[in-house]
Parts: sequence; structure tokens; C-alpha cells
Amino acid sequence: MIKVAVNGYGTIGKRVADAVTAQPDMEVVGVAKTSVSADAYIAKQRGYPLYIADLGKKAAFEKAGIEIAGDVEAMFKAADIIVDATPGGVGEKNRPIYEKLGKKAIFQGGEAHEVAGFSFNAHVNYKEAQEHRFARIVSCNSTGLVRIIHTLDQAFGVERVRAVMVRRASDPGDVKRGPVDATVLNPATIPSHHGPDVNTVLPHINIVTLAMIVPTTFMHMHAIQMDLKKETTRDEVLQVFKNHSRIGIVRKDTGIKSNAQLREYAQDLRRPRADVWENGIFEESVSVLDGKEFYCFQAIHQEADVIPENVDCIRAMMGTVKDPQESIRMTNEALNFVAIR
Ligand code: NAD
Repeated sequence: MIKVAVNGYGTIGKRVADAVTAQPDMEVVGVAKTSVSADAYIAKQRGYPLYIADLGKKAAFEKAGIEIAGDVEAMFKAADIIVDATPGGVGEKNRPIYEKLGKKAIFQGGEAHEVAGFSFNAHVNYKEAQEHRFARIVSCNSTGLVRIIHTLDQAFGVERVRAVMVRRASDPGDVKRGPVDATVLNPATIPSHHGPDVNTVLPHINIVTLAMIVPTTFMHMHAIQMDLKKETTRDEVLQVFKNHSRIGIVRKDTGIKSNAQLREYAQDLRRPRADVWENGIFEESVSVLDGKEFYCFQAIHQEADVIPENVDCIRAMMGTVKDPQESIRMTNEALNFVAIR
């Protein structure tokens, strides 16, 4: 069993911990938080040993009825690998500690590529991960872009990508960012940072991205255009998507035309936390004009799509499963995740 520590038990960390627990070949040796919160109670309820960075806060946790197993260094020492899911910028500060202890670590998209020097996506560069002590899972938007661009690049070649990201304002529980009633250019300059982030995994792709934030919490929505190198048809493209285990097709027959309906559907499918781990490509929107001009809309569940990538990255870095497809299959199966079709 691979021993995994989750440093930062928030939106991403709590999902990673549950996904790791669901796998047959890995276990959670501890999770870390900075302050007493609802998530700390969930960690206790799940039976995850809870560690804290500042032992001075131990009394506050204990007063709230939450037992503390020790300080974070003790948790790191007990682990083979650390998933750092602390807020953006904190991972960079943690890196020297992981280095000092000789531990492998996985950072999230809030950190710069340089923090790890290697940015990961299971379908693209799984086999390279074993050479690295540190890896970074690109952000939710970039993960969604990398999946769709890579699969079309493999099938038809991608000449260039132009994409607009309509971003959710905050995660549903992140009330401190709201209420909001605006469409905020993010940034007002073009391109946004998403294209360069995609290039950390797919360096040869010509991509320009634009982004804005709107008052919704459920998902991001992408409007994507790609020029393909080889001529194809809409049916061939849909078949390529169907063959990809982390691309879901939101079928026309469902009548789903929004992030809100897709979330309801995920809830009704009894997905934990209504998580949509795959890209949600709207079938009706998939278009190929003049043989080479591809268009679509896709929904990206910001809290969920990076979770299976973290699990695969653990196996890839530990070198326990060499074949990416086998790891992807194991991860998806353990999550009981059948792509939306
Ligand atoms: P979050 O604020 O929900 O959770 C962070 C957790 O880390 C909190 O529980 C906090 O108590 C804990 N923490 C803070 N400082 C700590 C420290 N020094 N040591 C240990 N724990 C500490 O944040 P999040 O949304 O889960 O984001 C985590 C990372 O994942 C960021 O890099 C973010 O950019 C990235 N990410 C977030 C999303 C998303 O939609 N939320 C999507 C993809 C990637």
C-alpha cells in the first residue's frame, strides 16, 4: 500500500483523501488543517488522523472535540508521498520541508509550474512522472483543456486552439468571495494564463485563451475552437471523445444545456459531492466546419476534474503501475466512475 499524506484538507484535499481511500493500492496516513472547521469534523468522521502545522493550536482543536495526531512533519515522515493541497502559494513554502525529508510531493494548479518543474496529466505524460520527485497537477481549467486538446491532437493533429473560459465566481462553500453580481474580465488583457499553463503539459500547441468570471459556483464553461490538421467529421470526433475515459458526452436527449442541470444530473447519479470528474462536452455543440474547423462547449467541474489526476500521479511517481491506461482504469473503477454519456 502506498502511504499518502494530504497536506491541506479543503476543497481539493478532502476529495483527494476520499479518492485515495477508495483505491486498492493506497491509503491515507493523515490529513492536515490549520484551523477548526466543518472539514476538520469530516476528517474526524472519516477516521483520517488529523495533523496541524502549528501545535500551538492543538488546544483549540481539542476543545472542539477533535483529536490531533501530531505536527505536520510527523505526518510527512509517515508518508511515501505527500499531496499538497494547501492554498496557492503555500505549496512553494512547503517544498523545502519535503526536500529536507527526502519525500516525493504533488502540488496543485495554484502553484507555478516552476515549483515542481514538471506538470502532469495522466493521458499525456504518466510515464515521465517516475523520474521526478515533485509534480504539479495543472489547474481545473487547464486539465479540461489538456484532455480535449491532447485527444484531438493524437487523432487528427491540432494546428491551433482558441478558447474562452467562462469561470465560476467561487466554489459553492466559499462564501467569503460573494455575493457577486458582475461579469469580471479575468484578466482584461489577452491571453489569459490558461494557454501558457496548457503549454506546461503540451508545449507544442499553439493556443490563445481568454477568460471572464461570472456569478455561478457550479462549474466553468469553455467555448473552444480548434483548427485540425487532418480533415474529419463530427461523427469521428464524437467517437474519439467516447473512447476517452475522462471525457463525458452530455447527450442532446438529456435536455441538459447548463452547468446547473449537469450538477443536478451528477447528484442523481449519486456521485459523491455531485462530482463530475470528466470533461462534460455538450453533444449538440460539437461541430466540424469545412472538415478542419472544430467547435464545442464543455463544462468543467472545478472541484472534481483534478482528483483522478492526483490519484494517477501518485502511482506514476511511485512507479508501482507502469502502464498509464491500467492506472487510469484502476482509478476510475475504484471511484465507481462511468463517464457521462
Ligand atoms: P481550500 O482553501 O479549499 O483548502 C486549503 C486547505 O489548506 C484548507 O483546509 C486550509 O485549512 C489548509 N491550509 C492552509 N494553509 C495550510 C498550511 N500551511 N498547512 C496545512 N494546511 C493548510 O483550497 P482549495 O480550493 O482546495 O485549493 C487548493 C489548491 O488546489 C490550490 O493550489 C488551488 O489553486 C488548487 N485548485 C483548486 C481548485 C478549486 O476549484 N477549488 C481546482 C483546481 C485546483
